Amino acid sequence: MLLRSLDPFAVAGGYDIPDAVTIGDAVLSRSDLIGAATSVAERIARADRVAVLAKPTPRTVLAILGCLIAGVTVVPIPPDSGPTEVEHFLRDSGAQAWLGEAPGETDLPVVPVRLHARSWHTYPEPAPSSVAFILYTSGTTGQPKGVLLSRKAIAAGLDALADAWAWTPKDVLVHGLPLFHVHGLILGLLGPLRVGSPVIHTGKPTPDAYAAAKGSLYFGVPTVWSRIADDPEAARALSGARLLVSGSAPLPVPVFDRLTELTGHAPVERYGMSETMITLSTRADGERRRGWVGTPVAGVETRLRDDSDNDVPHDGESVGGLQVRGPMLFDGYLGRPDETARNWTEDGWFKTGDVAVVDADGFHRIVGRESTDLIKSGGYRIGAGEIETALLGHPQVAEAAVIGVPDSDLGQRIVAYVVPRAGEAVVADVLIDFVAKELSAHKRPRSVVVVESLPRNAMGKVQKKLLGDQ
Ligand code: ATP
Ligand code: MG
Repeated sequence: MLLRSLDPFAVAGGYDIPDAVTIGDAVLSRSDLIGAATSVAERIARADRVAVLAKPTPRTVLAILGCLIAGVTVVPIPPDSGPTEVEHFLRDSGAQAWLGEAPGETDLPVVPVRLHARSWHTYPEPAPSSVAFILYTSGTTGQPKGVLLSRKAIAAGLDALADAWAWTPKDVLVHGLPLFHVHGLILGLLGPLRVGSPVIHTGKPTPDAYAAAKGSLYFGVPTVWSRIADDPEAARALSGARLLVSGSAPLPVPVFDRLTELTGHAPVERYGMSETMITLSTRADGERRRGWVGTPVAGVETRLRDDSDNDVPHDGESVGGLQVRGPMLFDGYLGRPDETARNWTEDGWFKTGDVAVVDADGFHRIVGRESTDLIKSGGYRIGAGEIETALLGHPQVAEAAVIGVPDSDLGQRIVAYVVPRAGEAVVADVLIDFVAKELSAHKRPRSVVVVESLPRNAMGKVQKKLLGDQ
């Protein structure tokens, strides 16, 4: 009965609590989770929306579980947010209290989290359609938007992943991702709860920490995998794993290849958004194709549309706007009915804002974001990712980001930002010729800017709007 009352998703069947959640040095047992989460739930039962400073600590995990039990909506706040950002999150979300701790001065009440309960309570199950989280998007293209995620959407999304990745209670998940986005929080924390498998959060996602943890399933963003691929000893330590999963941004092909070679496992790639959770993935039992993110997960349908709303053929070449439909989609953007309406079609499809290619087998390749990664130059539509991949194939290039900047002649002009490999000097003209030869002349960058690093956010996503500003 306690287990049922703890079901954070309030849907019938198939749910259990894992034996342990390990965070840094702390191991939370099954009874710690039940008892302490109940205690949290008692304290906050009167608020309906609370902010949680999403540090990867046992208290944070307990705070979030407590809210799920009590039917309180959680607003996870990135712990390194500055005061202006915190103010935006609080004002936008309407959070009524901080649970755990506040980041400095605050007008809201701060409710402490205790680790032990006096008694165990049962709570009525919150409605499946109630909002479990207000998750803020990464803010890659503008101000972070509050995404309303219902319990039933989360449950559907996680069940589809358990199917795609053959995720069972025997798995041990390892990751060190932030707990304020879909990847680390929903997949990385609630996924194990849903499946009933333990999770080890490494605190930080370093190669050493991943190598030291004895897991079967590893989650990482491409920057994490890239560091592991550059650390052969750490990579080889993962050879005993069952599945390495990459997502949140494109996994560079050279990283895919090095990881495969060193670990003996071709990584699984998956694609999703705060708004949709995971909609596309390669499967544990299926083909892993470098540069492609696989097929729709259970319950998801996709389609490609051109600018005039016509279907784009699934021929492995033609590029179209990716639209998705399925039970894991969000309920809308908080307080932005116009933005919500703008992104849905009349017949109920969500416009992801990403452009993709689909082949005859239903395999998807993400070309990038319509707003920043689809460059319209000299009458051509060019995917920035293709040029980035070509640049990464050059031995002197460690990282690359390509954008289109306004150009009176071409419409947009291709500009590449590159980070040289350690000890290498990059010559712009050499790279420009290299791309023109690898791809075609109209895809060559007009200029190459050498930088020490690319501006990335907590998920390792390149913030192209900052490049454009430079
Ligand atoms: P904002 O919406 O605030 O601009 P964001 O879109 O980066 O930020 P998220 O919802 O965290 O916020 O990220 C979703 C986006 O990440 C997708 O729309 C897509 O562009 C990108 N993405 C996720 N997974 C992949 C992947 N496997 N390959 C390529 N791109 C990916
Ligand atoms: Mg987005």
